[in-house]
Amino acid sequence: MKQQQQPTSLVSSILAVSFAPSSNVNAYPQSNANKVALKLANAIKFKTISQDDPDIKTDYQPFTDFIQYLQQAFPVLHSHLNREIINNYSMLYRWDGSNPALKPFFINCHYDVVPVDMSGWSVDPFGGVIKDGYVWGRGSIDNKLIVISAMEAIETLLNRSYVPERTLYLAIGHDEEIGGYNGHKMISAHVQSLGITAEMILDEGIPLLQAGFLPGLNTTTALLGVNEKGYVYFNITATAPGGHSSMPPSQQSPIGILAKAVTAFESNPLPPPNSTLYPNQFLDQFTQQQIETIPFLDYMRRTTTTVTMFRSGIKPNVLPTTATAWISHRVVPGDDVDAIIERNNRLINDTRIKVIIDAKLPPSPYSSPAAKPFKAVKQCIKKIFGQDVNVKSGLMFANTDTRYYWPVSPNIYRIMPCVVNSQGLAMLHGYNEKLAITDLVKAVSFYQHIIRKFNNIDLDTTITDID
Ligand SMILES: [Zn+2]
Repeated sequence: MKQQQQPTSLVSSILAVSFAPSSNVNAYPQSNANKVALKLANAIKFKTISQDDPDIKTDYQPFTDFIQYLQQAFPVLHSHLNREIINNYSMLYRWDGSNPALKPFFINCHYDVVPVDMSGWSVDPFGGVIKDGYVWGRGSIDNKLIVISAMEAIETLLNRSYVPERTLYLAIGHDEEIGGYNGHKMISAHVQSLGITAEMILDEGIPLLQAGFLPGLNTTTALLGVNEKGYVYFNITATAPGGHSSMPPSQQSPIGILAKAVTAFESNPLPPPNSTLYPNQFLDQFTQQQIETIPFLDYMRRTTTTVTMFRSGIKPNVLPTTATAWISHRVVPGDDVDAIIERNNRLINDTRIKVIIDAKLPPSPYSSPAAKPFKAVKQCIKKIFGQDVNVKSGLMFANTDTRYYWPVSPNIYRIMPCVVNSQGLAMLHGYNEKLAITDLVKAVSFYQHIIRKFNNIDLDTTITDID
């Protein structure tokens, strides 16, 4: 569906705001809050939906319209930065630094979103609704928050005639929610073909967790992701001759065969690996009992198993000829993907069942929290979200497009620059996703700080020059 173009009045009001004089050259002005909220709200109106279901065709018109919208919403950025469109819908922006001796750094994000189930929403998820101090809609956090706030940060710095020393790349993918194969995978291939290696890559991750998010979490905490789980996606299929339900065969039905295997998976969870392999500062602040009993913590120390789909049968009175179940593991560092596949075969232990591996990925490399870029990001988080915020390195248990950048930088970190409470995480791919406008302002300030911080040649210095 074609999205409406921005009315001229909005574009001119955006321009007016961008060039408004500011008494404080460092902080993102609170008075701009409503204007940047409008930019995010308008970004949400584009239905840039990645379709998981192969039967539903992705409508790419909103993607093309979104790219055009960014040009209108961030005119100064577009006149100063070099933009390459990668594979039709992904974008790689380059802001050249004055000092070519410094390695560039990357801010990565994506603008596709997951589909919505309208039944659970109290507002139109693509309406661009602003109410009660929030921007509502699919993508308000995941991940148009980063697209808009990083661009607003660059636009603001440009308006203040800021000249970076270190080159910045802003890489925006268009299919993260379905694996990133046509987006960040291609951007990274392009970057690698140019021989570029980066000081740091900062991508989406887990939002800051408000105090009380978990039992035992008494301070608002940023889990700054330093590594990521791997995965195995596979399906298992049982087949049988079929026939009429009044004449059942002597052998088990494919549903019965498969049900036994599914039960075997669910009743034999993988134990945590013997050695934790990498330190996890976030996990280390909890007691062993808390780690074992709180699912959010338990996910971080073990490989999980989930049965996500089961398909069999066509009619109540017809015996099915096949039954298929789809199962996935999220593989914790310390476990070996191929060893898990072997274990699965032993668990199934039935020659009537065929196993097909759909996709697999080992756990990611580990980026050290002792590295200067980690410390720099940590400083920026504390500066914006509060000096009392705990910043801990930890394992990202979902996957991001950073998997394509392992050869580009040893320093890959993951954070979503907003704060969620205990109910908040569920809205990311669920109902009523929304972002507080105060958090959006903080996100813009956060990326301004990151950009300024990474321009310091010595990343160890504190950000005394930034409010
Ligand atoms: Zn995302």
